[in-house]
Amino acid sequence: MRGLFITFEGPDGSGKSTQLQRMASYLNAQLYDVLTTREPGGTAISDQIRRIVLDPEHPEMAEQTEVLLYAASRAQHVQEKIKPALEQGKMVLCDRFVDASIAYQGFGLGFGEQTVQQINDFATGGLTPDRTYMIDVAPELSRERMNTRTTQEFTQELDRIEQKELEYHARVRQGFQTLAKQHQRIMLIDGNQSIESIHQLIVQDLLNLIKARTDSHS
Ligand code: ADP
Repeated sequence: MRGLFITFEGPDGSGKSTQLQRMASYLNAQLYDVLTTREPGGTAISDQIRRIVLDPEHPEMAEQTEVLLYAASRAQHVQEKIKPALEQGKMVLCDRFVDASIAYQGFGLGFGEQTVQQINDFATGGLTPDRTYMIDVAPELSRERMNTRTTQEFTQELDRIEQKELEYHARVRQGFQTLAKQHQRIMLIDGNQSIESIHQLIVQDLLNLIKARTDSHS
């Protein structure tokens, strides 16, 4: 049986990787064969592409180029790592996938959902997660979780650039929420809950999914 492809989405600091790791430990303890991965996925080609995207020597990089390079890196990650693992029946847990590009580049940068979806459909050959756990938090909270600044510093008024950034992140959040409404595979989770409560929600859902699949194959 083909493995399950599970993705974790949400803004930085929403708690995606914490949940992914918790789930991987849980599944490993249940003796499932699990692959955890995140882009660029540790593939040599994807790593090189990522280096170009992040190279500070190239501030002239067009946003279109960036969208295509991220998609190129993802294509390699899918072909070299994700697809073979699924074919071997592994449970693949991936930190971010196409939904993130749609939220950040489609909604955040304003390229539009359809354009980013089409580019990524080509890149992934249409590979779609079986289930996506999307953690929803306000931009202020994700920033707080990422930040080591003290609470006192936080309450200070945001400067113009920080405010602009928050507007961008608000668009990204709206993008994630829009996707959650469109696709049944996406479970939108309130990220204000404790790590343990969110983990329990995900475990329950995933166990149901595994059971439904096993039943349909027996
Ligand atoms: P992401 O992968 O989405 O960037 P992380 O999983 O790395 O986020 O979490 C960012 C920080 O927030 C970590 O210090 C983590 O322990 C903390 N954190 C994660 N989930 C929660 C939660 N539900 N409540 C409080 N803190 C959390």
